[in-house]
Amino acid sequence: MLHPIERLPEDWAETLARWGEPRYRAAQVFKWIHARGVLDPDAMTDLPKRLRARLAEEGLQPTMEVALHQRAEDGTQKLLLQMGDGRAVESVLIPQGSSGAEDPVGGDEPEDGRPVTQCISTQVGCAMGCVFCASGMAGLKRQMSAAEIVSQLFVGRGLVDEGDRLRNVVFMGMGEPLHNYDAVSRALRLMFHPDGLGFGTRRVTVSTSGLIPEIARLGEDFGGKVQLAISLHVPDDERRSALMPINRRYPLSDLMKALRRYPLPKRRRITIEYTLVAGYNDELADADRLADLLKGMSAKVNLIPMNPVPDNPLGPPPWSVVEAFHDRLWDRGVSTFVRRRKGDDIAAACGQLVLAGEKKKIRVKVPVVS
Ligand code: SF4
Repeated sequence: MLHPIERLPEDWAETLARWGEPRYRAAQVFKWIHARGVLDPDAMTDLPKRLRARLAEEGLQPTMEVALHQRAEDGTQKLLLQMGDGRAVESVLIPQGSSGAEDPVGGDEPEDGRPVTQCISTQVGCAMGCVFCASGMAGLKRQMSAAEIVSQLFVGRGLVDEGDRLRNVVFMGMGEPLHNYDAVSRALRLMFHPDGLGFGTRRVTVSTSGLIPEIARLGEDFGGKVQLAISLHVPDDERRSALMPINRRYPLSDLMKALRRYPLPKRRRITIEYTLVAGYNDELADADRLADLLKGMSAKVNLIPMNPVPDNPLGPPPWSVVEAFHDRLWDRGVSTFVRRRKGDDIAAACGQLVLAGEKKKIRVKVPVVS
């Protein structure tokens, strides 16, 4: 049975019909939950008492609570969110800085305060095992439900600074979103609904390590309107497979074909995420290979100097190397941006708070650099 938070208005219409309530109440209930963020049926003042009591019986209550809340000097807020079974995931609120690099849409000035981007999780841990990633080190513990995925936004909306506005969402927290496709696609439908959170499709980015069948499904289900980001990181199969095991199943040539088939609307681009790891994927020859892969594709590259992860010997290259890589891509005609790391003082890479909480030493297999 669907959790009350993950019911769309049409699901509520069915539920209410079973309860003998008029169907028009479906929009009211949905708005209370998703537009106003009210999860206490007693506060839903325009609903009759009997319906409020029925909603309480149905288990309408928050799915998570803030177990840890850290704030960095740059305004980034990192949350550790604990769910009903005691498992925890992370979410990060990132206010747009003066560089504007974090606004995935960009360009237009906000009419009401600083735009804030929330990075959300989709799984507890992750099965993909990317060696540079704290979430990957811990393995997959369980999938998150659609109710838990959108609940992160309810929490985030309540924590943005006064005058700021939660404007963008990136599925780049713990987990591989497309490995939890059904819950993620339902969460997307909930987020886009105009009577609910009302996010525009351009303002929501799903990031994947490259699950080709689900990329096609996402393109088909949402007409290509969901912004797609690919964690590419290495421009050749041998080294990418060492860093990201998923590449063995879906090698780069197949992934590039799948991206070219993604039904992007006009003037939209796929984002290519490229984490620069010192001495591994940061040579100019790598920039050239990446430019070759992206030839003729509507794409932009985000360069991300690697976040240092405790107990992981890999790290970011010097700034001069980042700049040279960036410049080479521009010279090759590829739109490229450097994403500043935010919240360094609070360990803002995905999975780091959870790992710190587990106080585990994790062995990292460093890939052989050929
Ligand atoms: S980078 Fe993403 S896909 Fe890879 S292990 Fe981490 S969370 Fe999973």
